[in-house]
Amino acid sequence: MPSQPAGSSPSGTVGVYWKSPLIWEARNGCVKPRSVISIASQRGDEMSERLSWDQYFMTITQQVAERSTCTRAKVGAVIVRDKNILATGYNGAPAGMPHCTDVGCLIYESKTPNGDTEQNCFRTIHAEMNAIAQAAKNGASIKDGAIYITHTPCIHCLKVLVNTGIREIYYEKPYKLHTLEELLRYTQVHLHKIELPPR
Ligand SMILES: [Zn+2]
Ligand SMILES: [Zn+2]
Repeated sequence: MPSQPAGSSPSGTVGVYWKSPLIWEARNGCVKPRSVISIASQRGDEMSERLSWDQYFMTITQQVAERSTCTRAKVGAVIVRDKNILATGYNGAPAGMPHCTDVGCLIYESKTPNGDTEQNCFRTIHAEMNAIAQAAKNGASIKDGAIYITHTPCIHCLKVLVNTGIREIYYEKPYKLHTLEELLRYTQVHLHKIELPPR
């Protein structure tokens, strides 16, 4: 079908007509935006592929994690209430301090009460703590909210989350889940795993 240059009138056009940014298509003498035709003809597929709210916020959380500056792991956190994002955070050095990506991590080892040895980065603030700090800085109440985190929180972040009044924690990847069992048993905080569609 012959195409016409952008800006030409679609009236009477037979075939395909381009007008940036929309693509117009003449069918049976009537002209419709192709985007409308496309959605109408594929509605079943497209509607079923729509992300749930949990997947939507978790996908955003993954993007937040991309700002992480610790080379050990990229972790993101997004605090939400009533489907509104209140604060975001990722793991990295405090504002003004050199980042792990510039000067390397500061790894230290510690022993947990059950005898496990774990390694952590001394330089960074965890993503959940940074999100809570951002909410505090901006005066956003996060009580009764939810937090989306790329990984389950460490025991220290979970303890703080309990005291913020956040009740629901959504995560994508489990991380040392066994260390959280006792705290979860005594508190009203719930952990939920979110499954994302394959990319
Ligand atoms: Zn680090
Ligand atoms: Zn933590």
